[in-house]
Amino acid sequence: MGRLAIVSAIDQELRGLLASLPNAQCVRRAGREFWVGTLCGHDVVLVRSLIGKVAAATTAAVLLEHFQVDAIVFTGVAGGLGAGVRIGDIVVADTLLQHDMDASPIFARFEVPLYGRSRFGTDALLSRRLEIACARVLSSIAAGTCSELSTVQLAGCGVAHGPRVHRGLIVSGDRFVSSAAEAQALQSDHADALAVEMEGAALAQVCHDFGVPCAVMRTVSDRADDTAHVDFNRFIEDVASRYTHAAVLAMLGAMA
Ligand code: SAH
Repeated sequence: MGRLAIVSAIDQELRGLLASLPNAQCVRRAGREFWVGTLCGHDVVLVRSLIGKVAAATTAAVLLEHFQVDAIVFTGVAGGLGAGVRIGDIVVADTLLQHDMDASPIFARFEVPLYGRSRFGTDALLSRRLEIACARVLSSIAAGTCSELSTVQLAGCGVAHGPRVHRGLIVSGDRFVSSAAEAQALQSDHADALAVEMEGAALAQVCHDFGVPCAVMRTVSDRADDTAHVDFNRFIEDVASRYTHAAVLAMLGAMA
């Protein structure tokens, strides 16, 4: 499948994967460290994008122009919006939208000006592969056969239900959503939104421009409300980065 980029916004999200790339070469560009190496026999580039839509767009553009990647997978955390999207679940995006885009009344609210659309799709095949890999990780945790994470560890992080994978709309914007009122406003604007984060829709737009496939997986770290996760970094380290590590390896392994 050529060269695959794996992108996260935050350092800890990539830590597990980086440890699996011991001989990676570090290339510095645009203030970021791009780790070029091989994972499960696949040519990969790992990079931390930093947080927000512009940071994600810059990272994607450099990956596509300078590193000539053939596909991009973004993995990170998000606030759950949809009913039944719980902390510890995973959301794989079908489409993404910028919830803070508003050039009305010149353009329809949320429409990206001059693109004639508000939603950008992910690649169906890559997303399906990612979704299958995520589901496999969650069932191996439930079966007690996952080396990364156990149900006891998950329960210790406040995830006591059997986590599941959801597939659908993710909305992105340059705002950490941490009040019930904001979360409700997003849901009334986008009834089908499953989760909110700060990078995915920007990445999807850049990939659309370049005609390169992308996929986005997000571990739900909070419910985007007033109870927003107490220890965000710990959750990333103990849960999200382990999901990411196991899911990326499962996906690449299945693509042998
Ligand atoms: N505490 C972190 C900053 C997190 S910013 C630090 O110190 O580095 C939030 C990051 O998590 C963004 O990358 C965003 O994509 C994602 N995210 C998780 N929950 C979110 C929410 N409720 N609203 C918006 N973004 C969220």
